[in-house]
Amino acid sequence: MLSIESLHVTYGGAVQAVRGVSMEVPDGKVVAVLGSNGAGKTTLLRTISGTLRLHRGRVESGSVNFDGTDLVSRDPAQAVRLGLVQVPEGRRIFGRLTVEENLRAGGMGNRDKAAKAKAQERVYDMFPVLKERSSQRGALLSGGEQQMLAIGRALMASPKLLLLDEPSLGLAPRIIGQIGEVVAEINRQGTSVLLVEQNATMALGVADLAYVLDVGEVSLSGDARELSQTDEVQRLYLGHD
Ligand code: ATP
Repeated sequence: MLSIESLHVTYGGAVQAVRGVSMEVPDGKVVAVLGSNGAGKTTLLRTISGTLRLHRGRVESGSVNFDGTDLVSRDPAQAVRLGLVQVPEGRRIFGRLTVEENLRAGGMGNRDKAAKAKAQERVYDMFPVLKERSSQRGALLSGGEQQMLAIGRALMASPKLLLLDEPSLGLAPRIIGQIGEVVAEINRQGTSVLLVEQNATMALGVADLAYVLDVGEVSLSGDARELSQTDEVQRLYLGHD
């Protein structure tokens, strides 16, 4: 479905944020990308979602292919039309708009009214708390609820591949567990997921496959369960001595 080959990305021509990354997201799977601060995870997502140029980044070489379409040099709207929708790091919901207005904003590119209504129903089924609070302003929601809203808004565009950038950031462990369950449910309903996370426990718990990025390069990759058993992942990412 998504295939990245020998990707090199720089910022301002100098900072080499991604250095020769190759990666696959097979149809119907959850793929996790782990790595510490500055490893290049966000840069990878920006390249896929077409937002790289907004951050003055540039693809120097390599390819990103989604269902047979080259994604390098596409803009975010084109990426969304192809079925790639990103939930940005830090959530970035519209605080002054109501929950329902936030969701509608996510479905704006979709002209099919019936499909939009169905998408909204699906979001409310998945997140009953959003239905209860549909007329409240986004800013009044808790951090966890705002993350649910950001995910719900992305689902309104009916993605084929959902791109999640550190959904657990700043949330309590219990809420992080809920986010993991939500990712699993979205995947069960047929959406593939690329999950960028620093929380390796959550990410490896829900993912089929995982890649570990280290200063812009893939240092480890494979079956998520097998990776979680390796010494390196246990020590560096799961906090075991
Ligand atoms: P984090 O978890 O902190 O978001 P990350 O793994 O997502 O880290 P990136 O944000 O992709 O990493 O950053 C990779 C490298 O690129 C870092 O050295 C970072 O400083 C640099 N970088 C990211 N965005 C820019 C930018 N807009 N301009 C210049 N350098 C940038």
